[in-house]
Amino acid sequence: MQPRIEVGILGATGMVGQNFVNFLQGHPWFDLRWLGASDRSRGKKYKDAMHWNLDGVTPDSAASLTVEECKPGNAPKLLFSAMDASIATEIERAFAEAGHVVVSNSRNHRMERDVPLLVPEINPDHLRLVPQQQARGWKGRIVTNPNCSTIVLTMGLAPLKQFGIAKIVATTMQAISGAGYPGVASMDIVGNVIPFIGNEEEKMEQETQKIMGEFRGDHIEPLPARMSAHCNRVAVVDGHTVTVSVEFSSKPSLADVRQAFDAFTSVPQQRGLPSAPPRPVIYMEEANRPQPRKDAERERGMAAFVGRLRPCPVLDYKFVALGHNTIRGAAGAAVLNAELMQSEGMLA
Ligand code: NAP
Repeated sequence: MQPRIEVGILGATGMVGQNFVNFLQGHPWFDLRWLGASDRSRGKKYKDAMHWNLDGVTPDSAASLTVEECKPGNAPKLLFSAMDASIATEIERAFAEAGHVVVSNSRNHRMERDVPLLVPEINPDHLRLVPQQQARGWKGRIVTNPNCSTIVLTMGLAPLKQFGIAKIVATTMQAISGAGYPGVASMDIVGNVIPFIGNEEEKMEQETQKIMGEFRGDHIEPLPARMSAHCNRVAVVDGHTVTVSVEFSSKPSLADVRQAFDAFTSVPQQRGLPSAPPRPVIYMEEANRPQPRKDAERERGMAAFVGRLRPCPVLDYKFVALGHNTIRGAAGAAVLNAELMQSEGMLA
């Protein structure tokens, strides 16, 4: 039995913060002990500081904790961050400087040269960037997880990397929970599609190349693929769907590609990490699946579902991928990142 590890959440009152509170309930290694948010919430009991947006009621273990200021002081060493991006840069850095391990969802540090943009099934070796952060004078460190649509795409592409990915065209249908709470106004989204999400296409293109790139001693060599993303907000509550066309430098058969989806497994599964889905990528045979309402929450929201693999008349093959944006695309992703770090002895 390993000793339990105390954890806290920066930005605990927001959409992703609440998903952290929920996801950490009953965690076999981590005990939620500390919650931080803005001045608006500081000093209030957690249950009074926010409107609980998930199913059920605020979990008892968090409901009566007092929300604290997001300043280093009495917080546990391991902190999950779900802070608004407008303020995350300085606050996350202050905690890292003070010796905390910040496992962040925010976009702010994702593309920095010495910060891993981690998906444990795809690039666990990118954790080897972390020691370079000592050069910043930090006693702690920052590790990030990708944008919620990028993780769905990269989980779908990961089994196919072996074929040499040369070109990617990805079109998203993104849930409204991805915009936080209250997010997009109901008058804008009900019965509608919004064909623009600020900076999302740029993030998807850059993050995919970093995540799927190679660790080269002191930096990540980006995946040498050309990529085009189209991002749309649709009237779905949870679950981002991505349709993908892909061209390979080798020419695998359809059966090879299909077999690659089925065979895919990785380090979190081999190590039995508590939040790792037994099968990270699940191929669905039905012609009309995966679907967000039916599939996003399966496997605790931690798997990517793919389907409709077929030849693409423009690139080589096309398929659809789906994942839960606030779990695999945010809170669950960060918890799995921390589990990987613990399994590497990096939380000591
Ligand atoms: P949100 O619902 O707007 O929540 C923002 C959180 O930041 C709240 O807890 C808020 O606290 C806190 N905050 C705001 N200003 C602060 C300050 N000055 N000091 C400390 N805390 C402050 O946003 P969200 O959707 O949860 O997203 C959180 C982060 O995760 C963002 O960076 C977002 O880009 C990223 N993300 C979101 C998703 C998703 O699907 N929603 C997916 C991946 C990544 P108060 O309640 O006290 O104001």
